[in-house]
Amino acid sequence: MNDEIKIEEKLREFFEANYEYLKESSGHSINELMKERAFEQVLIYWKKHRQMILDGKVSSMQISVPNLRTPNKAIPYSIEGMIDVLEKDGKRSLFDVTTNSREQIEDDIELYKDELNLYAYELERMKESDIGGTFVLSTSMPRDVRYALKNGNASELEHALANWNPIVPVQHSHDVLESAVKKVGEVVEKIQNCELAPPSPSVLKKEFKDGRTFCSHICENCDIRKSCEAFKGV
Ligand code: SF4
Repeated sequence: MNDEIKIEEKLREFFEANYEYLKESSGHSINELMKERAFEQVLIYWKKHRQMILDGKVSSMQISVPNLRTPNKAIPYSIEGMIDVLEKDGKRSLFDVTTNSREQIEDDIELYKDELNLYAYELERMKESDIGGTFVLSTSMPRDVRYALKNGNASELEHALANWNPIVPVQHSHDVLESAVKKVGEVVEKIQNCELAPPSPSVLKKEFKDGRTFCSHICENCDIRKSCEAFKGV
């Protein structure tokens, strides 16, 4: 058995174990067709990024940013989260993996910028390593990759994969960091002051570049939407 087949078998094994875990823990399942499509996406991810994965070391890391203070009332708080890391040539690049498309990522770039800069700052502060860069990686397959898969045409797929650029670079700088800490601090103050009002219905209806709205993208997954006045007002 060649190495490529062994890797795909291993990926299938991880995928099945992960699927069973998610099914048990969430109580949701999907039909066989959707499951095969999800696995197809895993294989495409591997094919597209195999060189990046083999050239460096990709892992997940838990990072805490302690001893932060809110901007107005100086309330102490800390931030904790998981981030993906690519280690190569003695440098670490931090990245977020998302199922969102490039367009969606570009729409939400400020959110990614804040998060990645906070974690990059903490790694630099701890003198853990040099930061090689920050980026967001989209796993959402573009239309021509999906068509090539559907047509079962290997050379068409190879061409579509070569044309696909799923990496969106994110600005890494200390200016971004300061504004990110301020923004998070303002949210912490609002929570502490019990200022928890939802955005207005007009914000919920506003369309992003790809046609989604706050309502369709965020509220549809919100457990309290049925009792939310803003949602009911849309
Ligand atoms: S439905 Fe949920 S996410 Fe949407 S505005 Fe209301 S509270 Fe916020």
